[in-house]
Amino acid sequence: MGLRTTPHISVVTPVYNETGSTLNALVGRLTAVLTATAADFEIILVDDGSRNDAWENISAISLADPKIKGIRLTRNFGQHSAIAAGLDYALGEWVVVMDADLQDRPEVIPELYQKAKAGYQIVFVDRAARPEGIVYRFLAATFYNIFNFLAGEDYHRRWGNFSIISREVVEAFRQIPDRDRFYGGTVRWLGFRQASITARHGERFVGTSTHNLRSRLRFAIQLILGYSTRLLYVAIFLGLVMAIVSLAMATEIVLYKLTDPERPVPGWPSVITAVFFTAGVTNIMLGLIGIYLGDLIERSRGRPRYVVQSFAGDRNTGAIKKVKALKEKQRDT
Ligand code: UDP
Ligand code: MG
Repeated sequence: MGLRTTPHISVVTPVYNETGSTLNALVGRLTAVLTATAADFEIILVDDGSRNDAWENISAISLADPKIKGIRLTRNFGQHSAIAAGLDYALGEWVVVMDADLQDRPEVIPELYQKAKAGYQIVFVDRAARPEGIVYRFLAATFYNIFNFLAGEDYHRRWGNFSIISREVVEAFRQIPDRDRFYGGTVRWLGFRQASITARHGERFVGTSTHNLRSRLRFAIQLILGYSTRLLYVAIFLGLVMAIVSLAMATEIVLYKLTDPERPVPGWPSVITAVFFTAGVTNIMLGLIGIYLGDLIERSRGRPRYVVQSFAGDRNTGAIKKVKALKEKQRDT
């Protein structure tokens, strides 16, 4: 057969504005580790619309080594979309997903792989020590607590993207159409046999995080909306509490009048309080419904979560598709 054999391990890495030195170090360390771990492997670098020379570097690296492949998205779609793109093209029996900035240390992969081979289809790395500052960790912890409450999930906040998943899991993941698929959350939701290992989280190789507070907040809100309708219940609950409070206030006014019929009820304050109160509750409700409606409209458009501009590596688009089609045919028969 003229086609190359499928690799045993694929590594999928989203890349956004990472420097050439980071990418070279990443590929170098990955190659060293993977050569010792598996007979065959591939490394897929997904350029998530970088504004720097990341794509030129990926192209150059992939020219020098056929095991390295590049996928370039047409613009910045976000790291989870980039991961989804990588998973669509990864051919390995096992797929490792990790960040490009070397915070996820390649040297942890053998342990990850061993754990998976021991009988798990999904193994995540539990980030034991995080180098980030206390404010970052506090915000992250707060977010995950709110997320877990609203989504009714038990998402582990020490789990990032760093993980290994089996071919079955990759195929299951690819069938989920959600536009905001959040890699870790979705994989967890999928089920299968899951486990985790503990490893130290590294420092960023160069530069600073590509996210700022605004992009993190936007992502947080998207996640909460995508994962739950619990906010609607919170709204109903709030309305209920307010209704009970106003009922208590009304009772108080009645009692007040009953105990001393001569005393006049303070009309203006009580009326205005009631009006503001009702308006407030209505606004909260409307706002929440609006948010969900907007989100629904966004989703109903059914747009793909990423668009590919070009590929780099020993195989062009057609060849990748050919191998994939063959693989799928083999699986079906
Ligand atoms: N990334 C991406 N698209 C983006 C932002 C980030 O593909 O829009 C990649 C980035 O290159 C890195 C990973 O996602 O490989 C995690 O990003 P970063 O290190 O900035 O996030 P943090 O570690 O601070 O959560
Ligand atoms: Mg990072």
